[in-house]
Formats: sequence, C-alpha cells, structure tokens
Amino acid sequence: MHAQDDARPVVQPLVIPIFIPHMGCPHQCIFCNQRAITGKSAQTPSLDQIHQEVNRFLKFGKERPSTTQISFFGGSFLGLEKETIRSLLETAMHFVRAKDVDSIRFSTRPDTVSQESLSLLDGFPVSTVELGVQSMNDHVLDAAGRGHRASDTLVAAGLLKNRGYELGLQMMVGLPEDDEDGAMETARRIAGLEPDFVRIYPTLVLEGSQLAGRYRDGRFHPMALAACVTLVKRLFLYFNTHHIPVVRMGLQASDGLTRAGGFIAGPHHPAFGHLVHGEIVLDAISSALDRMEKRPDPLTISVHPSMVSRVQGLNKKNICRLKKTFDLKNIVLHQDERLAKNHLVVAGAHITLP
Ligand code: SF4
Repeated sequence: MHAQDDARPVVQPLVIPIFIPHMGCPHQCIFCNQRAITGKSAQTPSLDQIHQEVNRFLKFGKERPSTTQISFFGGSFLGLEKETIRSLLETAMHFVRAKDVDSIRFSTRPDTVSQESLSLLDGFPVSTVELGVQSMNDHVLDAAGRGHRASDTLVAAGLLKNRGYELGLQMMVGLPEDDEDGAMETARRIAGLEPDFVRIYPTLVLEGSQLAGRYRDGRFHPMALAACVTLVKRLFLYFNTHHIPVVRMGLQASDGLTRAGGFIAGPHHPAFGHLVHGEIVLDAISSALDRMEKRPDPLTISVHPSMVSRVQGLNKKNICRLKKTFDLKNIVLHQDERLAKNHLVVAGAHITLP
C-alpha cells in the first residue's frame, strides 16, 4: 500500500532490511516459528554480510528517496546482547558517516525498552523504533505466550516518545482469545499512544510454531481471509480518523515470519493491503449508489489512472459485486488524470475516499 494515500502524508524512506533472528529468545509466542527457523543455521549476520547487503541495496536504489534507513528487523533488537547491539549499530553507523544512509531503525519487544537499554543507543543515529505490541489486552497477550503486559507497551511508548524517536506500533488480529471488539479496543489504546505509524498483521499458522499443532488438532481456527480483510479495513478507517498512517497491512514474503517458508494456514494474501483498499472503495461507491434515486446504466466512474485497480478490485471483484448488487449491465471506468488519487466521480456524484 502507499502510505502517501493515508491519513497523514508520510514520505516512505528507502529501507534496507537486515534480518536479525532472535537467537536464544527466551519467549515462546505461539505464532512464532523462529525456533524452527533459527535451530541451526541462522545467526546474527556478520558485519561483512551486513556491508554486502547494504551495498547491494545502495547499488540498486537508483532513484534515492529523501531518506534511506538501515532496518534491523525480525527479532527483538534491544533483547540482544549489549555487545551485539553495539556492534550492529557501529556497522550501520559506518554507512551514515559515509552519507550513504541517513539513519537506523529497528523493531523490538515492548519489555526490552528501558532507560538503561535506550542508553545503548546514545550517540548512534537511530531515528525510528517499532514495538511489537500485538494486543493491548493482557488476556490475549497471555494466550499468545507473549510474556509481556499491555503496561509494558505504555511504558515503552512513553520512553521512546520522550527521547524523540519516531514511534511505530505493530498489532495483530486473529490471535486466540481475541475478537473484533478486542482488536478495536487494541486500536483505541494504540491510537491513545499517538504513534507516528502503525502496522497491522494477521495471525498466520506457520510450520514450527505452537499454533501449527493447535491448528492440526482443531484447537485453533485462523480467521478467514474475507473476515480478516473486513476487520483490518475497520482498523484502517479508525486509525485514519485519528490521522495515524497505516504503513502496512498483511505480511510480505520478505517479512521475518514467512522467511524459510512454512506457511500452513490463515488469512495470508500477497496483496492484502490492496484487498483492504479495494473494499474501502467498494463501500464508498455502494453508498453513493444507495443514495441515488435513479442509477444510470451504463454507470460511469471517473478515477485517477493510478486508482483503477483499486476501483476494479482484485480480479475485478468490485465491478462484479456492483453489477450484481445494483442490477447494472455495464460499468465504464473513465480515467482522468486531473482527479486527485482519493477522489472518484460516480455518475456525477463526487466521492472523497478516506
Ligand atoms: S515473536 Fe519474537 S519474542 Fe516471540 S518467540 Fe518469536 S522471536 Fe521471541
């Protein structure tokens, strides 16, 4: 998805991802397959490997955006050994000193953030920290085996904001013991922390995770894709009204959890964000048509060229749904470059998308 289209304009940096498997993580989150992944082969990348990876990205990032960041992700950065943290930061700092990279970002567990752990970052150009919040309900956190409380997130977010870091919060939907109301409550509490951006991930069943066993013996039922898309849409719209950008919905193949394969079940789709935006557009057009006393057929929808695929929906699902629901024979999409990307004209009625 494009964050520029979201609530608050965010210039997306070029992010150079460095995967840090959380070796020796003492926790056992039920959705995590890092134990299976990290068993023997994966190690914290060597400094040489990081150099190679960053240089590879810099070579291919021809048109550099305004900001370039090295991102340590996949584990809990501040949960690593102090020496490892320092040496990873030193390595990244080399590229900042050379002016190839602007800053460093990482993701970490809320309970790894303290005055002491943050003091390790002093003097390093870290700009952004993301917290794996997952839920703001202690019962759900317990059921997920997270090993931290919602209060840890409150404390961590406060410390990070006080020190002036850009703050990202990640939440999950579809965890055991959670439901739609629970997800909305988590979103409300996350919004109250005033993050600079959020990410929303569905709970997937991955090989090697505890959820895999529960799924196989029928004790865990992942969300269906359609229900998950609709729930994430509600969350997106909620954050949107609070002017909090949602920079990611759904996992990408390159994300740590899907690394090494092993996807078994759950609401995974490579274009998850596109599905959510498609549903938002479908809702907007449907309410415009609902309000019309007489609907023209063929129906003309004018749209900026870059938004055509969102209006059509995946496999033109939106067009089929509109035809069926409103008994239309033909829908004509008219591309108009003069329209703003979040603006549609449906049979003369102007709609601004969230
Ligand atoms: S999700 Fe992170 S904290 Fe949880 S078990 Fe996996 S590596 Fe550890």
